[in-house]
Amino acid sequence: MKSIQIAIDGPASSGKSTVAKIIAKQLGYTYLDTGAMYRAVTLLALEHQLAEDQVGQLLELVDQEPISFDRNQDGQQRVFLGQRDVSLAIRDNDVTNNVSWVSALAPVREKLVALQQEIAKAGGIVMDGRDIGTVVLPQAELKIFLIASVEERALRRFKENTERGIETDLETLKEEISARDYKDSNRAVSPLKAADDAITFDTTGVSIEGVVAFISEKAKEILDK
Ligand code: C5P
Repeated sequence: MKSIQIAIDGPASSGKSTVAKIIAKQLGYTYLDTGAMYRAVTLLALEHQLAEDQVGQLLELVDQEPISFDRNQDGQQRVFLGQRDVSLAIRDNDVTNNVSWVSALAPVREKLVALQQEIAKAGGIVMDGRDIGTVVLPQAELKIFLIASVEERALRRFKENTERGIETDLETLKEEISARDYKDSNRAVSPLKAADDAITFDTTGVSIEGVVAFISEKAKEILDK
């Protein structure tokens, strides 16, 4: 059966991973959360107190504790550094607030992009990130760029945190999201931007089901061709 590559890019908390996971499940494709990979490298940098000029050491640490994924019994994706399950640790605020400088390092991007392209060779894939449509899978048959207002994205993150029992301040979340958007969009290497052939979809006020239905329809059109 024909299988395609679906690239879902967009700014922080635009709902990419939630919808990407659902679409991958519907199609029976692999789902790859590339943000989790940059977060895992950031965790290593923080644990070893490395700075930007120590990227060589950082990459050695990634070789010693390679990034991998698996699924637990509930079907939830887990992220590993070597044998360590870092799924929760990579969501820490400290990692979130440091990931932009780590992901701006060209050697880190080179290494992770090569890994992402290798994983994509296996067949049908839904990948979410910032540069999937522009750099990682420029040949992807379907490219979606999800956007939403900062207010709505901060509110989504706020609700997620509350459900997880994490206390946060809405205004702080807005500031953090805006700061990360700015850094991700203005870095020299592979900045966050829609590919020329991407479909931009504003999810402000749209339910998850609504976004999923839109992308599924587009995928179906391509698969039925
Ligand atoms: O998607 P998520 O918010 O978890 O991504 C965390 C960070 O990883 C982003 O803010 C960005 O700095 C970086 N990232 C990236 N390229 C990707 C995916 C994520 O630079 N493809």
